Amino acid sequence: MDFEEDHFELPDDVISKDDALSYVCENEWENVEEVFRDLEREEWLKTSKTCLELLSVISQKDRAHMRGGIKKWLRKKQNDGDDVTEEQLFAIAADVCGFVEELANSSNNSKFLRAVGLDAYARMHRLTAAHGILVSANSCGLDDLQWAKDLLAITRAFCDFLSEISDPGQEPFVQFRIRGPIEVFNKYLRAAPAQLLVHWRDQDGDVSFGRSPDPELPNLSSFIANWIAEYLTKTYPYVSLGVCAECGRFFSRERRDKTFCSKTCQNRVAYKRKKLLESNALTPVNVAPDDACDIAKGLWLHHPRFGIGLVEAVGGRAGGPVRSLPGSTQDAQVVQYRSMLSRMTVLQVRFLHGARLLRFADLFEGQKKEEQLPQFYEVKSEETLAELL
Ligand SMILES: [Zn+2]
Repeated sequence: MDFEEDHFELPDDVISKDDALSYVCENEWENVEEVFRDLEREEWLKTSKTCLELLSVISQKDRAHMRGGIKKWLRKKQNDGDDVTEEQLFAIAADVCGFVEELANSSNNSKFLRAVGLDAYARMHRLTAAHGILVSANSCGLDDLQWAKDLLAITRAFCDFLSEISDPGQEPFVQFRIRGPIEVFNKYLRAAPAQLLVHWRDQDGDVSFGRSPDPELPNLSSFIANWIAEYLTKTYPYVSLGVCAECGRFFSRERRDKTFCSKTCQNRVAYKRKKLLESNALTPVNVAPDDACDIAKGLWLHHPRFGIGLVEAVGGRAGGPVRSLPGSTQDAQVVQYRSMLSRMTVLQVRFLHGARLLRFADLFEGQKKEEQLPQFYEVKSEETLAELL
């Protein structure tokens, strides 16, 4: 239906576009910011996808090695700790080289980048994380594997950092706990000179600016350290990253305490746990909070978020036989003293993703009412446990 302009009258309650906009800016600004944040989040995840995939390649291989390490301990009582063998390092290096090669072949832009060099390329195209990886990976050969060792160190540090920062039980100590990983990030930030400033014309013809690793001094770990630093300083408040407790993959998540990358991993863990408990390989051990000072190394525990782990060291308390405390002739005093020592207990537990420190609060005080507490176990059959891990 056509309206002649003079026949068409706006109803009285119609709000003009400008008024609507002012209203939204004045009253709904938080929602507007939320929309921007979502867009930025999507954009960041799109451009950072390659970095997350590269870190996942390393972390998944490392996870397989750590699982193997625990099985070896169960079968032969040999403990490799966090050390990696040459063979394991080579396996990681080979996977990374394969990933980089595939990345180089998967995009025409990458071929163009290699043909014309970074300088000429950057004047015409926006540089992405994938380009940064390709430029930095020039130093990665299979004759000297130091770069793979460095890459593993920074990947592990990022895993540790993400699990510390997302752990709701760690709030009072979180700054202390992330100090180690941040030192590692800084070590690799220092290992290469500051990134170069590059510029290109974007789709509208405007000149844009960005940073790029120096192709003359390629260093993949430093590139990853720069990427991590940029993530933490710019994107961290609205993009939460995690490492899957089962497969070791890095993923973005809606909630900071989400532990698994997918339903598949979550179900696999639940299934394995069920099989493990039905197998009689483990016998539950009940530890009362006041008896935490008696926990000995060699005990196993199931943690609701980290899975099954071996207590490999016990610290934080005086040690020695508490029952024969000199001067404590009265039982009440011994009980009180044991209870105090128990609250200072710290366990070093080796989970499938690496060793973690758990304090008394992590062991006996769930942060949320519905949170399950860790359960202790004794191993009845090492071989069955090794098979089912
Ligand atoms: Zn997973």
